[in-house]
Order: sequence, then structure tokens, then C-alpha cells
Amino acid sequence: MRQRISERTVMRDRQNPAAVVANAAVANADTTARSNVTAFKRPEQTDFDVVIVGAGLSGIGVAYHLQRDCPNKSFVILEARDATGGTWDLFRYPGIRSDSDMHTLGYRFRPWRGEKAIADGPSILSYLNETAREYGIDRKIRFNHKVKRASWSSAQARWTLEVSGPDGQAHTITCNFLQMCSGYYDYDSGYMPGWSGMQRFAGQIVHPQKWPEDLDYSGKRVVVIGSGATAVTLVPAMADKAAHVTMLQRSPTYIVSRPAKDPIANWLHAKLPAGLAHALARWKNILLQMYFYNAARKKPEAAKQRLIGLARAELGSGIDVEKHFTPRYNPWDQRLCLVPDGDLFKAIRAGKATVVTDEIETFTESGLKLRSGEELSADIIVTATGLVMRLMGGMELVVDGKPVNPGDTLSYKGMMFSDVPNFASTFGYTNASWTLKADLSAEYLCRILNAMDRGGYAYCAPRNTDPSVIPDATPPLASGYMQRAKDVLPKQGSRRPWKLYQNYAKDMVALRFGKIDDGVLVFSRCDEQGLRRARG
Ligand SMILES: Cc1cc2nc3c(=O)[nH]c(=O)nc-3n(C[C@H](O)[C@H](O)[C@H](O)COP(=O)(O)OP(=O)(O)OC[C@H]3O[C@@H](n4cnc5c(N)ncnc54)[C@H](O)[C@@H]3O)c2cc1C
Repeated sequence: MRQRISERTVMRDRQNPAAVVANAAVANADTTARSNVTAFKRPEQTDFDVVIVGAGLSGIGVAYHLQRDCPNKSFVILEARDATGGTWDLFRYPGIRSDSDMHTLGYRFRPWRGEKAIADGPSILSYLNETAREYGIDRKIRFNHKVKRASWSSAQARWTLEVSGPDGQAHTITCNFLQMCSGYYDYDSGYMPGWSGMQRFAGQIVHPQKWPEDLDYSGKRVVVIGSGATAVTLVPAMADKAAHVTMLQRSPTYIVSRPAKDPIANWLHAKLPAGLAHALARWKNILLQMYFYNAARKKPEAAKQRLIGLARAELGSGIDVEKHFTPRYNPWDQRLCLVPDGDLFKAIRAGKATVVTDEIETFTESGLKLRSGEELSADIIVTATGLVMRLMGGMELVVDGKPVNPGDTLSYKGMMFSDVPNFASTFGYTNASWTLKADLSAEYLCRILNAMDRGGYAYCAPRNTDPSVIPDATPPLASGYMQRAKDVLPKQGSRRPWKLYQNYAKDMVALRFGKIDDGVLVFSRCDEQGLRRARG
């Protein structure tokens, strides 16, 4: 035990002499615990090299990279909920699944072995839990620890985190580097527009973010409000048991069918070692996705006609594709919706589901009255109306006594905020799998930490001194939840390293191979005098 403590804390102690005292206390306490029969509760460590906030897909990924690339760094994962998996544990609605392939949504370092490339939520959650267990990351997680406030001191080169622990007790945890893996939305509640008459509705209103475990929709008339990824997942998943499902959308979305099983990836897995098969399947999907995305952005009209043509071929005659499946925007202004094996189209063709494009005038006792005058009867109304964007789980960010609004900062390489020292925040791609960028950001974090150790630096922060860099507040997607949050999202700049390319190849070059000391990331040594003053 003592051996393990000392291995993990060598680096930390060099930076923080106070930790030596704390560590000695822990080591002494261990000896006492061995010599006394009386039960002894070991005090929890409260100072770390790195704190990761969030034990979802990104937090587990960062922990893996830290253990691999910075084995001497001490770290902990603070998680507000009582489970790992984040998104993949929270969402429990029928049919919950990925809309990216698992060879890119899965980690680069751990092959996805499932037969289906478009996988269901429980399989994704198992994959994340198994990854955490396999690499001993599960032992580094402190559950029910919500970080409320993070305050940086340049004099101490440390973050002080105010944490609400189990049963609401307040804790203080300190660290040298703060890595946010806290996702991008509010876990407490989803987005719910305030419609008139909602309280009059005699049936049940359900939001997919808070799906009641015992909701029985067999033989019931269901209306799903929305046209995004959640709505197009729910409609076919509920259509089998429900009497009928109506998808009510204000405006259409691009919907593309894709095989749930990837025959090439499965063939590779049958013939090759898992690691190699995973790498090849992953690269195939990365390159295809980049090709289709770039083609759609370069020739939007052609891409639009192709996507609508594909939907028409799936739906056959009798469906007004112009009205219900022809969006007003160009492909990839918003994320495309993927349906595995055309399940939504099949449910519509089979008459089990209907799409209505209209607006809600009011809820009635028996359903919805639409602007066109049409009425939809319902026993259950599902509001698949999206997420509330919330960065850092609402954590307050303070640097040297001054509050920081991320919306006033520039995003550096899509992972750090300008003038915020020793701080990174994982944000995945919006046009490809989240994990592709999350993995690269984690590698880059480790490169930064190792570079600081080599140079004897205590902290670093990206700083823009180039007046010709123009800040741009346009979010990466035109989707409602992004638009609603544009004032709190860090801005991008007009050129590298402040511009977001949403392109894996470019990011790989910049983050895996690019120079750390690029003249923008400014490194500082600890202010020894300030440190002594701060410590009295
Ligand atoms: C329904 C749904 C389907 C999706 N499907 C896909 C897909 O197919 N492909 C894709 O690429 N992306 C998809 N996404 C995006 C998805 O969120 C990411 O793929 C990925 O799961 C994000 O992982 P994360 O760990 O960064 O964040 P999250 O999964 O959101 O996890 C964040 C964790 O941080 C914790 N946390 C937050 N704030 C604090 C705090 N202050 N203190 C302590 N803990 C905190 C939360 O409790 C949570 O456990 C989907 C999102 C949703 C909602």
C-alpha cells in the first residue's frame, strides 16, 4: 500500500510540499491500521496532479490515457451521479442506440467486438463499464461528487474545487490540472417548450431524458413531438407495441438509412486479430465519413437531392416526401439522423407510424390541436424536443479571483479556453463520432503534462496576442440546442489554433504530432514567492 502511495505521489509532492505532510499522515495511518485491530477509515486523498470531472465516455478515455502516458501522475475522477457511463447510463428510452458506428464511437485503444456497428444503449454502457474495469479506472472514481466551483490560483499553481459530496456534504479537493469531461447538457432536465394547455391533457406527458421505467405503452396511441435523433429512434421502437405512433415535427430532418451490421468490419473481425480489425474498420469509417461530409458541404444541392432520393426510395409512393422529408436547410447544417436498416421507414410503410408536419396550437384534454386545424388524439405524448445545453454541469469557473464565462473565451484546439491555466474540456465532433476528438484531446493533454514536467513548468494557458484573429460565435451546428447556448460556448477564431475544423485528419496532425510549444500556449514556472506567501 505504502509503495503504491509513494509511486503515485512523487510528481505531486515535487509541486506541492503540503501534500508531503498529508501523504506522511496517510502512510502513518496505514501503519497504525495494520498494528491496531480497531477498524480504521483511511482519510481520502484530497490533492491530485489531475482531476477529471465526469465518468462518462470521455472521462474514462482520459483516465486510460493518463495511466498509459503519464503513469506518475496522481488523478481522481469526480462524478456527480452514482454511475459511470454518463449519457449511456442516463438515457433509458425504448430503442436507445448510437447513431454513429461503434468502431469510431468506441475507443481507439479498445476494439468494439459487438456484431452490430449501430449498437443499443445497454451494449454501449457495458462496453464503457468493462473498459473502466479492465484498466482499473473504476477504482479511481468518486461517485456522488458534484463539482460546484473551480477556482484557480496562479500563485499556488493549483485549482481548488468545491465539491458537493454524498448526502450533500461540502468537500475541498485541489489539483494542478483540471480536465472537464462533463458533457454538454443539463442532466437534471431536458428541453421542454412551454405549450399552451399542457395541464389540460388527460394522458401522460413523458420526456425521453426521464423515461419512467414502468411506462406501459402497449395498445396506446402515442405522439412523439420532435424530428431529431431521439424522435426517429423512439418512433420505430414504440411502433410494435403501441396502437399507433405519430411523429409530429415542425420541420423535417435529413434521415438516412444505414445497415446496423457492417459486413466489412465483421469480415475483418472474423479474419484478423481484434486490434488490427478494429483499426482498419475505424479508418474505413473515418475516411468514408470525411468524404461524405466534405462532398455534402462542397455540393449541398447535389447532396440534398441524393438524400431525399434515398428517402423516397425507402418510403415508396403514397408519402409526401416533399412535405415530410425535405428539410429547409442544407445537409450537415444540422446533424443527419441515421436509422439502422431503415427501421423508421419500415414502420411508416407498414402503417404503424405516421409523420405529421405541423405546429402545435394547444394541448387538449385528448391530445393536440394543430395550427392547420387537425387534431391528434393521444394517450401518451413524448416530448423529444432536445437537450438543455449546460457546460461543466453548471460549475462556476474562477481564475485568480475573477469569474470566467466560457462564452468570453476562445477555444484553443477545441479543448482549452484562452487565458484559463491548466484547464481542458473535452468536446467531441458534431459531424462524426464524439470519441474521435475525445481520444485525440486526451492524448494532447498527456503531451502537455509531460512537456510541462520536462521543462519544469507549473502551468500553461493559451493566449491570443494576434489582433487579426477574429472571434466567431457561430456554433458548429445550427440545431436549436446549440443556438440557444451560443453565448456560453467558447468562440472559435478565424485561424489555427483557434479554428475548429471538425476534421479528424487535421486534428490528428495538430494534436498527435503538432508542436506543443507553438507560441500560443504560454508556459509559466511557479511563482515561488507567491507560493510561500499563499502558504503563510
Ligand atoms: C441520446 C444521445 C445519443 C447520442 N448518440 C451519439 C452517437 O451515436 N455518437 C456520438 O458521437 N455522440 C452521441 N451522443 C453525444 C454523447 O453525449 C457523446 O457521444 C458522449 O457520450 C459524451 O460523453 P462525455 O463523457 O463527454 O459526456 P457525458 O456522457 O454527458 O458524461 C458527462 C458526465 O459528467 C458528469 N458531470 C457533469 N458535470 C459534472 C460536475 N460539475 N461534477 C461532477 N460530474 C459532472 C455527468 O454526471 C456525466 O456522468 C449522444 C448523446 C445523446 C444525449
